[in-house]
Amino acid sequence: MQETRHTRVQHQKNRKKQNIRRLFVAAVILLLVVCVVWISRPGTVQEETPATGPAVSGVEPTTNDGDGDKQQEPQIPVLPEEESWKIVLVNSSHALPDGYVPEMTTVDNTSFQFDIRAAEDLNAMLRDARAEGLSPMICSSYRTWERQTTLFEKQVEKQQATGLSYEDAYEKAKTVVAYPGTSEHQTGLTADIVATSHQLLDDSQADTAEQQWLMANCWKYGFILRYPLGKSEETGIIYEPWHYRYVGQEVAQYITENGLCLEEYWQQLEALQQA
Ligand SMILES: [Zn+2]
Repeated sequence: MQETRHTRVQHQKNRKKQNIRRLFVAAVILLLVVCVVWISRPGTVQEETPATGPAVSGVEPTTNDGDGDKQQEPQIPVLPEEESWKIVLVNSSHALPDGYVPEMTTVDNTSFQFDIRAAEDLNAMLRDARAEGLSPMICSSYRTWERQTTLFEKQVEKQQATGLSYEDAYEKAKTVVAYPGTSEHQTGLTADIVATSHQLLDDSQADTAEQQWLMANCWKYGFILRYPLGKSEETGIIYEPWHYRYVGQEVAQYITENGLCLEEYWQQLEALQQA
């Protein structure tokens, strides 16, 4: 009896132990299943996407002009050495190399001079504008060193006439007329174009049908509006809705599509070369 009771008790104890073990194993399996489900739930993956998302798309708006659907980063055109003349950067901190005199030719059946390598594109642009019933005219293109010096001195005088000191007039003049050696007109790749019916060099020029057409179409001929609205800080020059600069079709298209100015294109180019 004693032995039998003992065996029964022992048997019950064993069954209890077995139950506890089963319960333990079941709990471990349940825990594992919960873990697997937790890790693979969609929310976990999605949470990572926005974390990297804004960093990438945060860069894009400056380089992508509202073309939000484009997933690919725009490819910055890098010109081969023999075409680097097209993107020569001339501004207050980048003067032309000494003795830079490109081969020139006359354009648009006028006596205005332009770099011979870009002249035909300028002719084509003006010809096509006229075919649209417009009347654009060049009022300035290539300038020699002497000519730029004269223009600058005249501007200093004009500023002095408003009551500024010579120093202040000198500094102010630099924002209106490029300091000799730092004018794009000395590259032979720039033309000031106005509407024949509205030959004023001020903001109102932008409202003419001629400028509207030129601003919308110039990139097709390799030109950009060199000093666009809202970029004075980057270019150092006031808004000039008449000053067109040849950079070649590829770069003109990139700059236009991405809402850049030439300085910003160069910044991107240098960043790319340093990467
Ligand atoms: Zn100009």
